[in-house]
Amino acid sequence: MDEQTVKKRIEDLVKTIQEHDYRYYVLNHPILTDYEYDLLYKELQDLEKKYPHLILPDSPTQRVGNSISGDLPKVRHKVPMLSLQNTYNMEEVRAFMNTTNILGYKVKEWVGELKIDGVAVSLWYENGYLSKALTRGDGLLGEDVTAAIKTIRSIPLYIQEFTKGFVEVRGEVYVNKKDFLEYNKRQEILGEPLAVNPRNFASGSIKLLDPTIVAQRPLRILCYSIPYSDFQIAETQFEIISKLRDFKFPVSDAVKLLHSADDVQSYWDYWRLHKEDLPFHIDGIVIKVNQIKEQIELGTTNKIPKWAFAYKFPAETVETKLESVEWSVGRTGIITPIANLVPVWLGETTVKRATLYNYKEIVRLDLHEHDFVYLQKGGEIIPKIVGINFAKRTFDAKPITYPSHCPSCNELIEFDEEGILLRCENENCLAQLLRHLTHFVSRNAMNIESLGEKILELFIKAQLVQSIADLYRLKYETLLLLPGLGHKKVQKILEELEKSKAQPFENFLYALGIRLIGIHTARDLALRFANLRELMNAKKEDLLGIRDLGETKVNLLMKHFNKPSFQKLVNELDDLGVLAISQTKLSNLETKQQLFLNLTFVFTGTLNSMTREEAAELIRKGGGSVVNSVSKKTNFVVCGVDAGSKLEKAKLLNIPILTEELFLEWLKTGNLPLATSSEN
Ligand code: NAD
Repeated sequence: MDEQTVKKRIEDLVKTIQEHDYRYYVLNHPILTDYEYDLLYKELQDLEKKYPHLILPDSPTQRVGNSISGDLPKVRHKVPMLSLQNTYNMEEVRAFMNTTNILGYKVKEWVGELKIDGVAVSLWYENGYLSKALTRGDGLLGEDVTAAIKTIRSIPLYIQEFTKGFVEVRGEVYVNKKDFLEYNKRQEILGEPLAVNPRNFASGSIKLLDPTIVAQRPLRILCYSIPYSDFQIAETQFEIISKLRDFKFPVSDAVKLLHSADDVQSYWDYWRLHKEDLPFHIDGIVIKVNQIKEQIELGTTNKIPKWAFAYKFPAETVETKLESVEWSVGRTGIITPIANLVPVWLGETTVKRATLYNYKEIVRLDLHEHDFVYLQKGGEIIPKIVGINFAKRTFDAKPITYPSHCPSCNELIEFDEEGILLRCENENCLAQLLRHLTHFVSRNAMNIESLGEKILELFIKAQLVQSIADLYRLKYETLLLLPGLGHKKVQKILEELEKSKAQPFENFLYALGIRLIGIHTARDLALRFANLRELMNAKKEDLLGIRDLGETKVNLLMKHFNKPSFQKLVNELDDLGVLAISQTKLSNLETKQQLFLNLTFVFTGTLNSMTREEAAELIRKGGGSVVNSVSKKTNFVVCGVDAGSKLEKAKLLNIPILTEELFLEWLKTGNLPLATSSEN
């Protein structure tokens, strides 16, 4: 390669890797497998080694991987949190082990650990108490995730032995395979987006802004290091692990002392064979120099420690044949290519279909009709085509082309501004409309059971329904004319439609199918806003921080509310009597008689959904009382934003604390929520 070509290739690699870093670290939605990503990264590293003068200042090799997303407070790490050098082959492992010879002798002791597929956190203990928890962030600045981390039950909040000063503990937050699958199953039922893989699930979860939501996520932790302490704790990595165990931190039992490259190979072989027996995913092993003194002498670069490395497992790959590519129109008009495959067994399931994401991916793979393709599934649940067996391609194979017209409505389609996604802009596209209506009537939305997909399709074909508002304009006489619809069925449909007008605001909001508003976000918004009109009139600062609504998402949401087509729909639904648009909240929140009989409450901080006086009135109506200061006689402290010293006192006295959301839940359901806590 001449130097000009190398320069161009380096530029391309930097750009591509940056794009995938963004998807992985910020969006938590990678589209490459780790193996594919690591290949690109290695190619860049090799080129930069050969041509150091061509290294770009913003090359990903010059920084720790994570970008920092905007919504969490940033805190400087006491000790930088670095990445690990990694490899997939034993030759590089031996070469790495030899680099430690710069000490003037051969390092004799290593520790083998599992490389848990999760997200690293740093836990700060000050005078014994857990005072802060940070993500790795960009290595120097981490995101403050203290509130979220405190919801992980196995993390000690106080350690007697740490009362002598400051101690930092690090570990990996992860999710068990079983819990991960169950979470995704539930998401599927709710029609919510699935988590891509356990690592992104863990990383996304701890960055959620609302700890009550994090508490519902099945997160766990295994701790593996003490990078800093004001007093001596241990002299070796192996001893650190056993001390952590003594201090009651969860640690892995697989940690092992190793003495040679052959030991490393056996440890890797063993865990590659037995990884399926573990309840959580691992993607390799980590080898660390055992003596802390030697670690310090070997030091770090600004990206990696020179005394540790990861020896990763190759992802499981199988070969199968591509039968066809179909283009599927989604609710928002995006047209996605899906590969239909000859069924093949991979990673505990049979795979028949794989998403190809977008046309650019088809071009990148150079996919042709009837190709034999390699499929991979690592920690990921979604299988992915990672390559093609070109040797098996037949001479008549044709490249896959993209459709010029929408496969559903035949409207001319074009790529979006970035030239990646194909989208059908036709507001009357039947496939989109059908998906939209199916979502609208689903159980967690308007719950109109009698309207199945077949009937909705019938309505669309008969041109009776062009929007969700049209559903409420359906007439008995017209429906009776449709094939297969008798008197009873029509009556049931109309009754259910009428009943659905009184669905709670949260279900209605979810039913509208607005991107970013899944059922959970809808529930949280419904706690703060009385109805759709109030939500649409909300100011940006009223929305920021609700669930995981950061700046970007709030802007998108507000843009959606301001769209003339959305406002027209809302007006129509309002005229048709859908109550969730303008009905007020306090009437929803009539206190059940005697709900709070003989209970004493104290409020601290500002409530978002009502004034304190309104809240006190609701408590009095339920037979309870509200006082100003916390004492042993207080039954509950309700805590709003910027809670003051009353909260501290409640914690001291072990008085149950209710967030505003939990208090509202109690009012709405009439049942005391389970998540009440006295250790927030
Ligand atoms: P890494 O995941 O390869 O290794 C470092 C991390 O390992 C630590 O931060 C820690 O979280 C974890 N770890 C687990 N067990 C550990 C143990 N016992 N001791 C110490 N650390 C342990 O490096 P990284 O910088 O976090 O991420 C880079 C990797 O992420 C890449 O190699 C790639 O595989 C993946 N990635 C993938 C994509 C994609 O698009 N698929 C994009 C970016 C990064």
